[in-house]
Amino acid sequence: MRFDNEKKPALGIDLGTTYSAIARWTEKGPKVYQTKGGDYTLPSVVYFDERQEKPLVGNQALKRAFIDPENAIIGVKRMMDDGAQSIRLGDKEYTPIEISSMILRDIYEYAEKTTPGFDPTGVVVTVPYYFTALQCTNTSEAASLAGLNVLGIIQEPVAAALAYGIHEEEALNDEIIMVFDLGGGTFDLTIFRLTNSKEKLTFEVLATGGDDRLGGLDFDKALAELIKEKSQLNFSGVSKEDEIKATALLMEAAKETKEILSYEDFADIIKPNILPSQHIELEIERSEFEDSIESYFAKMDMIIDSVIEKASLSKKDIDRVVKVGGSSRIPKIDELLSQKIGNAKTYGNIDPDLCVAQGASVYAAFLDERIGWSKEIEIKTATAHALGVGLSDGRFSVLIPSNRRTPCEATRVFTTNTDNCEELDIDLYQGSSKFIKNNKRIGRIHVAGLKKCPAGELDIDITFRINQQQSVSVTIVQKESNIRKVENVKLT
Ligand code: ADP
Ligand code: MG
Repeated sequence: MRFDNEKKPALGIDLGTTYSAIARWTEKGPKVYQTKGGDYTLPSVVYFDERQEKPLVGNQALKRAFIDPENAIIGVKRMMDDGAQSIRLGDKEYTPIEISSMILRDIYEYAEKTTPGFDPTGVVVTVPYYFTALQCTNTSEAASLAGLNVLGIIQEPVAAALAYGIHEEEALNDEIIMVFDLGGGTFDLTIFRLTNSKEKLTFEVLATGGDDRLGGLDFDKALAELIKEKSQLNFSGVSKEDEIKATALLMEAAKETKEILSYEDFADIIKPNILPSQHIELEIERSEFEDSIESYFAKMDMIIDSVIEKASLSKKDIDRVVKVGGSSRIPKIDELLSQKIGNAKTYGNIDPDLCVAQGASVYAAFLDERIGWSKEIEIKTATAHALGVGLSDGRFSVLIPSNRRTPCEATRVFTTNTDNCEELDIDLYQGSSKFIKNNKRIGRIHVAGLKKCPAGELDIDITFRINQQQSVSVTIVQKESNIRKVENVKLT
């Protein structure tokens, strides 16, 4: 039997911080659906006010967000660590899971509307590499709430690497690839070893790094500042309302201009009445924009070095660079990459905006055991740092050493060092030093209600667990006191 991939597709959705995309797997490779309005991506924005019957999603919501930011939510993905918190839009309250499900539903519904007899078998949704188990579960829940059958979750850099791997599968040998993802709000760098055999395509993560506050939005802000300065806008004596509106318009103009400057050497900006009887009429050169974001490039330069070092590689070992994310279209990125990694190593055959959704659809087809793709896909990850707890004498007790293949877990027994100790703070660290003062504290777990005992008599079991998504959880068990505590830990 052959699957009808058009009517019964396996879907991949890139639920991005700023933009989302949806693709299906076909026997000729992944295919991205259009979203309403004819683009291939959808702004991950939701807007609601009392005048609306139901929330707006996408471009319309983004437009409203510029003039009425109070009733809009942009970047809900940053709130997925607490799926139950309340977000007020208009006179209604929503949770981050509900907002995410609206975005997923919207992008799904347009694909459904434009495909007669649409009846997908399921969907794979992407998450950032550093998402904890909880954030992954919340994302998965959002997809279920949108009425989708969730086949699985995959990390964005793995999805992008998969899109590359599938595209080049026939010619592919074993390679070291670097996924360079510069999106709207975050910069993520991941180095993989890709191995291609007859039976298996294996992705082994060697190192990751990045900055979760570095992206297109920062470039918009820098350029908005430059435009404001050059056009000599005068904000003195302007009402609060006019100021908010002008700032929003300025940001919008900056984003437009920035995107134009990715393919033109200069851009004209004409915005009448940005403030009462003040206009913007200006020409900006690409080099001026580049100068305004120089500090961010210096940061990226450093992060590239540190991640290559973490992988115990040198620059010349990188065989391929896969660019991901809308901001990777900025021409200066190519300059940075070819200067650092080498000319002609950047891969140009996949779309940086779409390859995450494409890779997710390949993984969906794999999980759904589609005909035509019989190879196994294996994803291997490893710990970047040693993980453990701090002892009272300042030493670091390691439970999971660095470079340990994941998923994995380790348990060790600790005890109290004072008599009748009823409460304890257990400090969790990551790092490579024997002493906690040189390592990084990644969490603290408070344990209360311990049975009163002489020092050294209570056994306290501490377990570190790392799952397939690289999420770490710590479990603390003290049997006699009936204590069992599980907490997720975010690694940075
Ligand atoms: P995310 O993964 O955060 O959802 P995307 O990968 O979709 O984000 O990237 C969105 C960012 O890319 C936005 O800041 C947008 O302005 C920027 N962007 C899109 N196209 C271009 C372009 N041609 N030049 C520069 N930046 C761009
Ligand atoms: Mg992205």
